[in-house]
Amino acid sequence: MHLLVINCGSSSIKFAVFEQSALDLVLSGICDRLGSDSPTITWELGEKSQKNAITLPAGSNHTTAMRAITERIAQELGDTSSFIAVGHRVVHGGERFKAATVIDSEVISGIEACSKLAPLHNPANLVGIDAARKAFPGLPQIAVFDTAFHQTLPPEAYLYPLPYEYYEKHGIRRYGFHGTSHRHVALETAKRLGHSLENTSMISVHLGNGCSAAAIESGVCIDTTMGLTPLEGLVMGTRCGDIDPSIQTFLHRELGMSFAEIDETLNKKSGLLGLSQLSNDMRTLSEAADGGNERARLAIDIFVYRLSKAIASLRSTLANCHAISFTGGIGENAKHIRSRALERLNFLGVNLDRESNETNGSESGRISSENSPVAVYVIPANEELAIAEESLSVINRNNFN
Ligand code: ADP
Repeated sequence: MHLLVINCGSSSIKFAVFEQSALDLVLSGICDRLGSDSPTITWELGEKSQKNAITLPAGSNHTTAMRAITERIAQELGDTSSFIAVGHRVVHGGERFKAATVIDSEVISGIEACSKLAPLHNPANLVGIDAARKAFPGLPQIAVFDTAFHQTLPPEAYLYPLPYEYYEKHGIRRYGFHGTSHRHVALETAKRLGHSLENTSMISVHLGNGCSAAAIESGVCIDTTMGLTPLEGLVMGTRCGDIDPSIQTFLHRELGMSFAEIDETLNKKSGLLGLSQLSNDMRTLSEAADGGNERARLAIDIFVYRLSKAIASLRSTLANCHAISFTGGIGENAKHIRSRALERLNFLGVNLDRESNETNGSESGRISSENSPVAVYVIPANEELAIAEESLSVINRNNFN
């Protein structure tokens, strides 16, 4: 029996097939450059096998692409009759969706209603759901929300100090994102600690192009750095993270920028890219900084400084902290970022093991010293696997087997 996972963005569809019992990866791939002259599907069997690729007709849309993806999968696996469900990533579930759920027409209306909170993402997710329903009629489709894991935040963490009616009437509050990743990291950290999830209190730090951290107490998320949108919190590749909200008024009033231009600047031209004026990519910046580029060095300094500050702040929300776990492209690979951010956190009982940090924690992922009161781990991000895990729990709950 197999599970199909679909992660549908505005111009790409990532897909993965997992074997149901142990969630072993059977096949994975991506269809990208949708809507362009040369949409391409690239896929591979299992882990790190040879990649295959085909080009789709120019201008192919999500529905055509889903059909082509289904054909590729059927060709590779013989057929798709072993599929028991399709799990979909959905970015925003608002306050309505507190857990992954089986998709029906009411759920689709609910996801549509959340589109005003994620205008770039939810409509693309819905296109993927529609295309998958057409490609696999009769199969249960499951929505896995980026926001759901954070629905346990208490009001003091999710309310902004704004007129209360903005929350009541317009849903303006902290939602948090990367929830599927933080949940996966929490489950993996609990396993490594030898605890149940319910007995695990920790900070999960996801550092990719987007960056966020979450405080998890007894397995339940109690605070996170991203907010109403994924713009708040840590410094990111192109997003500014926390800034004084008056900067926006200033840019509008003094520089004559429109709200669309401000939005574009804060989301696409700020963060590491804005500071360095060189790149949003940590690898490029690290090489440039090593080569003497002062702006690249400054961008990394600010990234690290704010990261330590955010982790320390989240630590203050927890009664206990067993572990801090890093994931995402930067979290998993940028040893210098981890070591510099953690150096400042000795006062919280965090003692890094330099050798383990150099090898990204090798097999176990542990990069703290044996006697460190707080364990530190590197946990590989695997968004598709995390979606499969959540989909499977919905399937088991609903007796779809
Ligand atoms: P996304 O959020 O798009 O999934 P990733 O999780 O792949 O992104 O993270 C991308 C970031 O990870 C980039 O800034 C990239 O430079 C960084 N990264 C990947 N590998 C390394 C590495 N070996 N050293 C430093 N940074 C790395």
